Amino acid sequence: HVVAWWLCCLTALSLSSTETLMDSTTATAELGWTVYPVSGSSDNSWEEVSGYDENMNTIRTYQVCNVFDNNQNNWVRTKYIRRRGAQRIHVEMKFSVRDCSSIPNVPGSCKETFNLYYYESDSDTANKVSPAWMENPWIKVDTIAADESFSQVDLGGRVMKINTEVRSFGPVSKHGFYLAFQDYGGCMSLIAVRVFYRKCPRVIQNGAVFQETLSGAESTSLVASRGVCIPNGEEVDVPIKLYCNGDGEWMVPIGRCMCKAGHEAVENGTVCRACPSAFFKPIQGDASCMQCPINSRTTNEGATNCVCRNGYYRTDSDPIQMPCTTVPSAPQNVLSIVNETSLMLEWQHPRESGGREDVVFNIICKSCGGGRGGCTRCGDNVQFVPRQLGLTEPRVYISDLLAHTQYTFEVQAVNGVSDQSPYSPQYSSVNITTNQAAPSTVSIMHQVSRTVDSITLSWSQPDQPNGVILDYELQYYEKDQTEYNSTIIKSQTNTVVIRGLKSGAIYVFLVRARTVAGFGRYSGKLYFQTMTEEEYNTSIQEKLPLIIGSAAAGLVFLIAVVVIVIVCNRRRGFERADSEYTDKLQHYTSGHMTPGMKIYIDPFTYEDPNEAVREFAKEIDTSCVKIEQVIGAGEFGEVCSGNLRLPGKREMFVAIKTLKSGYTEKQRRDFLSEASIMGQFDHPNVIHLEGVVTKSAPVMIITEFMENGSLDSFLRQNDGQFTVIQLVGMLRGIASGMKYLADMNYVHRDLAARNILVNSNLVCKVSDFGLSRFLEDDTSDPTYTSALGGKIPIRWTAPEAIQYRKFTSASDVWSYGIVMWEVMSYGERPYWDMTNQDVINAIEQDYRLPPPMDCPSALHQLMLDCWQKDRNNRPKFSQIVNNLDKMIRNPNSLKAMTPLSSGVHLPLLDRSVPDFSSFSTVDEWLDAIKMGQYKDNFANADFASFDVVSQMTMDDILSVGVTLAGHQKKILNSVQMMRASINQIQSVEV
Ligand code: AMP
Repeated sequence: HVVAWWLCCLTALSLSSTETLMDSTTATAELGWTVYPVSGSSDNSWEEVSGYDENMNTIRTYQVCNVFDNNQNNWVRTKYIRRRGAQRIHVEMKFSVRDCSSIPNVPGSCKETFNLYYYESDSDTANKVSPAWMENPWIKVDTIAADESFSQVDLGGRVMKINTEVRSFGPVSKHGFYLAFQDYGGCMSLIAVRVFYRKCPRVIQNGAVFQETLSGAESTSLVASRGVCIPNGEEVDVPIKLYCNGDGEWMVPIGRCMCKAGHEAVENGTVCRACPSAFFKPIQGDASCMQCPINSRTTNEGATNCVCRNGYYRTDSDPIQMPCTTVPSAPQNVLSIVNETSLMLEWQHPRESGGREDVVFNIICKSCGGGRGGCTRCGDNVQFVPRQLGLTEPRVYISDLLAHTQYTFEVQAVNGVSDQSPYSPQYSSVNITTNQAAPSTVSIMHQVSRTVDSITLSWSQPDQPNGVILDYELQYYEKDQTEYNSTIIKSQTNTVVIRGLKSGAIYVFLVRARTVAGFGRYSGKLYFQTMTEEEYNTSIQEKLPLIIGSAAAGLVFLIAVVVIVIVCNRRRGFERADSEYTDKLQHYTSGHMTPGMKIYIDPFTYEDPNEAVREFAKEIDTSCVKIEQVIGAGEFGEVCSGNLRLPGKREMFVAIKTLKSGYTEKQRRDFLSEASIMGQFDHPNVIHLEGVVTKSAPVMIITEFMENGSLDSFLRQNDGQFTVIQLVGMLRGIASGMKYLADMNYVHRDLAARNILVNSNLVCKVSDFGLSRFLEDDTSDPTYTSALGGKIPIRWTAPEAIQYRKFTSASDVWSYGIVMWEVMSYGERPYWDMTNQDVINAIEQDYRLPPPMDCPSALHQLMLDCWQKDRNNRPKFSQIVNNLDKMIRNPNSLKAMTPLSSGVHLPLLDRSVPDFSSFSTVDEWLDAIKMGQYKDNFANADFASFDVVSQMTMDDILSVGVTLAGHQKKILNSVQMMRASINQIQSVEV
């Protein structure tokens, strides 16, 4: 194909040049060629004659004219001509020939042509006889005929018709050659003979130098020549070539050279010149050097790029033709509009963009005046809309700032080269002070109790009070009415009794909090219903037999029963209100779950609980289990220690709970339910299930082995043996396990030291996930007291869980407080030997366990927090873990002890009933315990001094006319407090 292309495109690129080997016209003397037959022996052969050419220059010619003689054979031979490398020889002949017809009486032998011959020889060895005057040894080139002949001879040469013919021959290879002209009967004059060869001259073509190249041996020959790029030129792609043709012309260029980077082609592409200073050329090519972009310069000639001037930069992606740029100046006129704890910042673009179009803004937030005068970077909680960094528009909305706090905002202008500049981004700053935000919405509200005409509601503080809550505003209206008919009441606490309601009616309630910043938003609507008369009557009827039946028993017992009945009724009422509006209540009270959090699944929600076992517990082949010794008694059978060797795993020490033979299907299910629960957990402070054996007898639950057994007995055995930090470390582990369980939405309901196991490293793990001990029918264990709807471990259980079985993670927190107390007292029984009922009463009256001996007050305070009556006020397990971590990090915080702490068991602390000793009269005391309405009753019945009052019994309280059970309780408890106080004072005096 390439050859075909060459042939079709054979166009000459440059003028050919020739090299003359011999020129008869330049002869200054006789040519002296050899003539045959030898001159003189015949007058008729070629004869050298002086003459003129067409320009009337004197020349030497050979003439012959023997037209009237037959058989002419006249030769003239040139001198030896050196070949000088040529392969093809060209002969240019100028001659004139006499027209035969113009010669009168000329014979038929008259010729108008002659023959041209050549003979090669390595040296000039020819003589008069050799080479022989004949074709072969001579080689005939051609018979030469005249284009024009002339008919009139003007011997003066003035009228001459001169023919010019060129012939060529080759290849020639010897050092030289002779030419010979044969006349065979013509009349002609050989005016000039020039012998030459053709060559392609040295050229600079396509950026390369091609040296002089002689044409090939044939007229069609193409002689290839490799070019050499001119200095600072580079070959592009293929090696550069030209071909020299038979006419001495260059053709068929292949490839090319281009000036390399930093150089440009000048002088018609024959020179690659270095770019002058302040000019550059980035790449090889035909392009010219370009002037350096603005703010850049060259350091030397032949630059391939221009470097930026000081203070100016380029990014990696900036084209090098682009001017160098610099950092933008600061944003201008920053304007801030503060709205409570949010802020709008607006500014104008910097005066100087630095020559770039990629200017963006970053906001740096610092909060200042945090007491220490300095400013610190704001935390992650501050929100920026659309974002904090890389703002393209000159405005940002900032929210979630702290109320009443000074902030400094720096608005930085940055562009693509800012990070290269040693001068930090230019910025403008603005100082602002936030106002106060209104409190956030109250999200949880519940009904505490209700009657036919009243409802007692309680709610939790807003998550973000944003200041001190001054009061709450409760709005309510009957469900069938509209908000326009609503009533608004104010309350300074988060509990309110709404009276004067219609019986059996459903009301809509909304609540909002108020601070100095104003009202927060209303909560969502919640619906609660008052009791109907029937419900009320039924509840009275339920109470009566109990009260009458208990009349024979002691007064304290009677009160206790009344309390329980009231508790039960509250619970029912609540359930009823609940059931109708469950959806709504749940809607308003849930929603604290982290998305993606794993949630515990109650195995009893499975239609077939065996399915739950299969899903959550690994079946272990009984052959892998080796029971060694009995270590305890479980509810369903013995607890043993032993070894477990699973295929491909190391043997491990395990605890094995067994199900005793003769079990019912229900017992088996209940026994295994613990495994289905435990199998869902995976936490270092929660006992780990290895698996179950269900396919063979005995049925077993296999767990990790905890060398030190249960925490309560472990502590009792090691009384006083641990440092406070060790004890706090144990508590921290338990809290962490409980946090995990709470996060999984699992409520333990039986958190107690007896249900914590301890391993050899003192790591505590939450255990005992069995549910069966709560069931009504089992009465063997006195810890679990029968209550409506199941058994409850009273001492460990939060009041709301006892009263209306409201078991939540918050009630687990209460139990955790008790565990803290158990741990800090080395396994003491909570509330010592008080009866369960006394415990219930005491708690109801806001008594709480005192700090155990040597218990740091920080820990006791944490216990008290866990025992907050309102479960919403109790800390979350996550907060407890954080709190304990802080104490561990800062052991000094554990040094302070509550002064009351001593070796003697003190009466329970009363956190609400004021001590009588601070009052001088019974009336004052009654006011203080909020029973002021009975002042007259007391006075009229002669209960006028503390001495008499402190001896009052329940009979006395009834007799002075206190008929409401709650008031009776309140007064009785305050009386008991007074008595205890007096006794203590007396014993101190003794
Ligand atoms: P439980 O039925 O879970 O209350 O277990 C009864 C007793 O067996 C416990 O009080 C412990 O003393 C003992 N026990 C239970 N599980 C383990 C265990 N994983 N490691 C060591 N002892 C255990």
